[in-house]
Amino acid sequence: MEKNNALLQRSLASVWHPCTQMKQHETYPLIPIKSGDGVWLVDADGKRYLDALSSWWVNLFGHNNPRIKEAIKQQLDTLEHVMLAGFTHEPVVALSEKLAQLTGLGHAFYASDGASATEIALKMSFHYWRNVVGKPQKSKFISLQNSYHGETLGALGVTDVAIFKDTYAPLLMQSAQMPSPDFRLAETGESAEAYALRCAEALELYVSAHCHGLAAFIIEPLVQCAAGMGMYHPSYLRRAREICTKYEVHLIADEIAVGFGRTGTMFACEQAQIKADFVCLSKGITGGYLPLSVAMTTNQVYQEFYDDSTARGFLHSHSYTGNPLACSAALATLGIFEDDKVVEMNKEKSTQICAKMAALADIPHTNLRHQGMIFAFDVITKNTKFSRDCYSAALKEGLLLRPIGNTVYFMPPYSITDDEVDFMINATLKALKSTV
Ligand SMILES: *Cc1c(COP(=O)(O)O)cnc(C)c1O
Repeated sequence: MEKNNALLQRSLASVWHPCTQMKQHETYPLIPIKSGDGVWLVDADGKRYLDALSSWWVNLFGHNNPRIKEAIKQQLDTLEHVMLAGFTHEPVVALSEKLAQLTGLGHAFYASDGASATEIALKMSFHYWRNVVGKPQKSKFISLQNSYHGETLGALGVTDVAIFKDTYAPLLMQSAQMPSPDFRLAETGESAEAYALRCAEALELYVSAHCHGLAAFIIEPLVQCAAGMGMYHPSYLRRAREICTKYEVHLIADEIAVGFGRTGTMFACEQAQIKADFVCLSKGITGGYLPLSVAMTTNQVYQEFYDDSTARGFLHSHSYTGNPLACSAALATLGIFEDDKVVEMNKEKSTQICAKMAALADIPHTNLRHQGMIFAFDVITKNTKFSRDCYSAALKEGLLLRPIGNTVYFMPPYSITDDEVDFMINATLKALKSTV
């Protein structure tokens, strides 16, 4: 404990940690992590924790991954960074080509975090309606109830999670929220698809009445992760695409959490066979190694900015845009997808993990659900501090688990082995037994 304590005292004295009421660290100690290997995080005193949430949904192929590490090392010996305005380099070009192939969207605009990718998509959509001739200059956005698109001011304006949003409401642009197709909100006896289609009808009603001012509808395809892994039927996405096309409103797919194989296909939109006008990507893009995000869009949108007038161009920028080290990590990550047939292999793994979750049957719960490599259930408990208690109990068992409210979820690195899944389930069972 000695080394752990020393570092955490220094951290509390100097670091302001994210998404945290810092005073709670008087009772819930920080964990100082020294190293990582595969699905394991190792603290300063050598205790190991299985990373069941992929370090906030970013790590796809384990910590200390030899292939991604090697790619970054090679890039480090060549070029660490150069500004992307006026300059270009091989990693950013190669990555953009690959992403264009994978998404069917021809142009990539880079930033460093998810929220910035949201900002870029919103600004581009808004600006497009100013550049395009013969259309209304639209400036409003809509999103889903319980949606999460990041926490910078623009992104927070289309986010609908009260605890992140309410304090800052006076600073935010107004946006309307459409009924969420999350199947947990369906009427008893109503199928997930019937409910999704009913939500889509409400969407059409709103969009048809407001389309003259509506620039875009931003949506998390298939899974509203931050809302507590709210899953919905792909028919909603199909209808949303049709409605957006019919009323000339952009569709922005925020695949920041669900992209890169997480829902069982490379991108979640594939399961509805739709193509959005903008796709936001981040999190898993570098396998969890370096900050990188991108807003992808169609060549048609791109062309509306291509002009002799400077002001019609997209004059947005970030200092580290298209960082070569991050791009090389992303290329290595995509290389692993190809070489190891990851999306295919995950199908089997997903089925196995589901089967093993049967061991949790005795814990009172509802809405057991999964989508690709996301697994979740809602615990039934009177414990009002369940989330934090379960988090602490799991840490004692050597498991990093971070329930969202009463929703317990697993989003493990794809590299998790059978034995590690067993460990994860057993440790979860123990943590739940003492906290539910
Ligand atoms: C995490 C997340 C974001 C924000 O990404 P950051 O890198 O944390 O800014 C946006 N949208 C979704 C769906 C996310 O899960």
